[in-house]
Amino acid sequence: MSSLKEKQYFINELLDQMEIFGNDLFISKEELYKNKSNTNYLSESQVLLISESKESSIFFSENNDWLDSKDLNELFSKINDCTKCLLYKNRTNFVFGSGNPNADVMVIGEGPGAEEDKQGLPFVGRAGQLLTEILKAIKFSRDEVYIANIVKCRPPENRTPFQDEMETCLPYLEKQIELIKPKLILCLGLTAAKGLLKKKESLTALRGKVFNYHNSIKVMVTFHPAALLRNPNWKKDCWKDVQQFRKLYEEIINN
Ligand code: URA
Repeated sequence: MSSLKEKQYFINELLDQMEIFGNDLFISKEELYKNKSNTNYLSESQVLLISESKESSIFFSENNDWLDSKDLNELFSKINDCTKCLLYKNRTNFVFGSGNPNADVMVIGEGPGAEEDKQGLPFVGRAGQLLTEILKAIKFSRDEVYIANIVKCRPPENRTPFQDEMETCLPYLEKQIELIKPKLILCLGLTAAKGLLKKKESLTALRGKVFNYHNSIKVMVTFHPAALLRNPNWKKDCWKDVQQFRKLYEEIINN
């Protein structure tokens, strides 16, 4: 193996571990921020970003009139210029979500990648193509469901969104769920599951179970399609998950 190939191999292995166990196994930049003794490791731009985010929360009062939005269009028009977290700095587009505003099924991913940022639509890159195939395999079209993400702006280098970025953005997704009123939600990957369900377990522990969101919406968790692209061996298990999801959908719809 060439050293470049070796490097890529180890990166993929680490990403797979991260997909299953989350960030807790790794020291994130977020933890470096928190740990004062590590201040020396912060770059100037990181320090600047932290101080800017503090300043903005101290000096600018929040406008929360988006909470009264009556439909998705109104919500989009009120939040698409959001600057509540620092991800706005690098975005080309605010990736709100797409699909049927009255969907019975919502599919939730982590956050936009490069192609999504460019087009302003969720899951339109390679992982998105695989998602379209997965949905088709369980007899859903993309137009029939609603697809959104935990964070609406692309994290730099497609890193996992930080906890504070997720917490800042999550109320927007919660409002979308309130307006769409789906009967079921499929979370793609651990970040989506952790964000929405506030669970700390690994992906392995969360898969195959049915959770309740706000006591009325059934939630299931499966692999993120990007993880399946890196590790096609997981497709078999994903297939089991989505078949179970389809079965649950039919039970709910037919009752
Ligand atoms: N990955 C995600 O989690 N969401 C997207 O929209 C695209 C890739």
